[in-house]
Amino acid sequence: MCTTDEKLSTGGRKVEGLSIVSQARFALGVSISVNSFRISEVDLKMNELAYKKISLPRSNSLEDYVDLLKREIEQFLDEFKIDRERLLGVGIALPGVVSEDGSKLEYAPTLNLCNVSFDRFEKECPYPVHIENDANCGGGAEWFVRDSIKNVAYLSLEHGIGGAVFGNGVPYYGDNHRSGEFGHICVEPGGLRCSCGRQGCLEAYCSVGRISTDIGVTEEEFFQGLRNGSIEYIQRWENYLRHLAIGINNIRMVLDCDVVLGGFMSEYIEPYLPRLKEYLTALNPFGEDADYIKLSRCRKHTIPMGAALYYIIKFLDEL
Ligand SMILES: [Zn+2]
Repeated sequence: MCTTDEKLSTGGRKVEGLSIVSQARFALGVSISVNSFRISEVDLKMNELAYKKISLPRSNSLEDYVDLLKREIEQFLDEFKIDRERLLGVGIALPGVVSEDGSKLEYAPTLNLCNVSFDRFEKECPYPVHIENDANCGGGAEWFVRDSIKNVAYLSLEHGIGGAVFGNGVPYYGDNHRSGEFGHICVEPGGLRCSCGRQGCLEAYCSVGRISTDIGVTEEEFFQGLRNGSIEYIQRWENYLRHLAIGINNIRMVLDCDVVLGGFMSEYIEPYLPRLKEYLTALNPFGEDADYIKLSRCRKHTIPMGAALYYIIKFLDEL
C-alpha cells in the first residue's frame, strides 16, 4: 500500500494550497492479466482503501472479460460498501498496446487478443470507464508517489513485461503510443520464443511464467525452493537475473535515468538486488554502480492503483 500526503500533482501541475478531504471521492482501478482481475479502490490522496484479486479462467475473448468484469465490479462495490455516488470512475489496465484515443486494444500477445474494441464495455458499464496500457498505469502511480523523480523508466515485471517513460515529469508515449515496450527488447538473439512470435525478447526470459508456469510451480513455491538451495532453481534464477540485467542496461543506455522495477515480481526481487546490481555493474561502460535501480513503492498493487489514478487526476484538475 502506498500513500502520499503532500504531492497532489496533476499532469505535471502542482495543486498547491489546496486542502483535500481525501475520502470525498473514490476511484476504482482494475488490472486485467492472463489469469486474474485485481481491483483497488483509492481515495483522492492515492491511499488504497480496498483490494481484491479474482482468479480467472483463461479466455481469448474480450467479451468474456466484459461480462465477468461487470459482475466483479458490482460485487466489489457491495463487498466493501463503497458509495456509488462518490465513485469517480473505473480505470482499466490491460497488458497490451491501447490505441491513442483509448477505444481499442490493438495488440495484447499475452492475452492473445488483437484489434478489439471496448465499445460494449463502455456502453454497458454504469460508471465512467478509462482504458490504458498496464505499464503506463504502473508508471503513472509510481511517478505520482515519488516527489523528486523527473526522469524515470518504469519496468513492469508480470506475466507480460512492459514499461513507461517519464521525461521531466511528463509521460512520453512515442509516435504510436508504444513507448516503453521493454518486453520486446532483444536480450538473446536467436533465443527463446516470445509471445510476440520473435526470439530472444526480454519477456521470453523474465516473464513470471519463467519461474512458475513453465516449471509447474507457483512463484511462491519457486522462491521457497530457491531459499532451500535447489540447484535447478538457482540456475534458472541466475539466468533470469542475467537477462533482466541486459534489458535494464539497455534501458539505462538509451534513457540515462532511474529505472524503477514494478509489477508483482518486484516484491520478490529485493533480496536479490545485490546480485542484479553485480550483473548491471559489469555491463556498464561508464563504471557506474547500479544505484539507479529502484524498487516500486507500491509493489504488486501499482497497476490497479495506477489505473484508478486517471480519475483522481481528472477530478483534481477540475477543481
Ligand atoms: Zn517479444
